[in-house]
Amino acid sequence: MSTKELFRKLPKVDVLLGDEKIRKLCEEYGRGFVVDCIRQELERMRGLIASEDVVQLEECLKNFPGLVEKKILKEIEYPLKKVCNATGIILHTNLGRAPLGKIHLDAAAQAMCSYSNLEYDLETGKRGKRWTHYADVISKIVGTEGAIAVNNNAASLTLIFGALAKGKEVVVSRGESIEIGGKFRIPEVVEQSGAKLKEVGTTNRTRISDYENAINENTGALLKVHTSNYRVVGFTEEASLEEIAQLGKKYNLPVIMDLGSGVLINLEKYGLAHEPTVQEQVKKGANLVCFSGDKLLGGPQAGIIVGKKEIIQKLEHYPLMRAIRLDKCAIAALTATFREYLDEERAVKNIPVLHMIARPLEELKAQAEALHAGLSECAGMAEILVEESNSMVGGGSLPGEKLPSYAVTIRLKDSSCEELAEKMRHFSTPVIAHIKNDKVWLDMRTVMPEDLVDLIDHIRELFTNNSI
Ligand SMILES: *Cc1c(COP(=O)(O)O)cnc(C)c1O
Repeated sequence: MSTKELFRKLPKVDVLLGDEKIRKLCEEYGRGFVVDCIRQELERMRGLIASEDVVQLEECLKNFPGLVEKKILKEIEYPLKKVCNATGIILHTNLGRAPLGKIHLDAAAQAMCSYSNLEYDLETGKRGKRWTHYADVISKIVGTEGAIAVNNNAASLTLIFGALAKGKEVVVSRGESIEIGGKFRIPEVVEQSGAKLKEVGTTNRTRISDYENAINENTGALLKVHTSNYRVVGFTEEASLEEIAQLGKKYNLPVIMDLGSGVLINLEKYGLAHEPTVQEQVKKGANLVCFSGDKLLGGPQAGIIVGKKEIIQKLEHYPLMRAIRLDKCAIAALTATFREYLDEERAVKNIPVLHMIARPLEELKAQAEALHAGLSECAGMAEILVEESNSMVGGGSLPGEKLPSYAVTIRLKDSSCEELAEKMRHFSTPVIAHIKNDKVWLDMRTVMPEDLVDLIDHIRELFTNNSI
């Protein structure tokens, strides 16, 4: 068939508009939008003709209205959607860090869908402050006089340095002048706030005398950063937070601890190495401790700053505060998060991040076996196994720490794992897996039991349709 003849086979827009299915689509989604989708699909058909892909073209023309419907559904899909995290990395920065739970949803939904006393004092009938809702519960849990929360922990640092050290020097160890991720670097954040970073010591060794020697009349604050996403081992030395706190007292300088991940409970109980808790940093004498809401804390995106009331008040009144304050949904979800920590058992049950960390190995094994059994009919087409694996906390916490887990691994007979992983990313609920040793690994620690049925269905469909 000549190209000309092929072009003639393409349906006309006005004819299509008379089609029963297309008419229904127009009613539901609006004529303009449907016509737009028709045009885009026709354009794609012209591309197929140009590349002489006649087989594909014939296939598409068999059910053109069906194709248009698919296109419409794709167009109206939310671009930000649920994915199934089968990587075993609990705090996956690219997958939205901490997933929230029902407690967060209920709190946020209430704040979102009705009026609230967000900035209204119900006692006096006058204007209130939005931080009153969370400040008490946070302070109570971490043991400080005050607390304030902002958009994220990067914002915490920007606020702190701006309010306390603008035009002055912030002293930090060279070994802690780090890049946190996404090109976010401590020196640049400090500079952005109008303060100047003064690095002391060397990459591997910094002593308290290095800090002291750097203090002059222009020093604004002493900073310690928890090197949360890497580890320096070997010939190392660092000044402890206690020593720096002492020094701060001696020279009347605020001591700031950037803790990164905000752990409130002892993680050793759950088989992990000790990650310094917020409470410990407060006890060691930091005047301010700041940490993220959506890392190990397991709450919404936020930066939380806790410490002495008089310093927190300075932050509350700094003009930048207005630009980086939390919105009402985040305030509700953050408050709900901290409330759970009033009782550790409840926190581990209701905060998904903690729940995932605490999931017992037998449970993960049983879930892997259930997935494996669900895929038994695909066994002829691939080697599918239940294997021991290593999951991780991630999100720049506990670098190198492994949490033993179980995975279902799939090795294909005829296709590459990259191909399988790619197909899985295109499921209606995309599955994100990782590839190791020429196999696709589905780690069970981050796959929730309620997602299993869907996962089995989608993988089975892939195999039985011969699409892999
Ligand atoms: C993650 C991290 C930050 C940045 O926190 P965000 O909430 O992502 O802005 C800052 N400091 C440290 C040490 C971190 O680990």
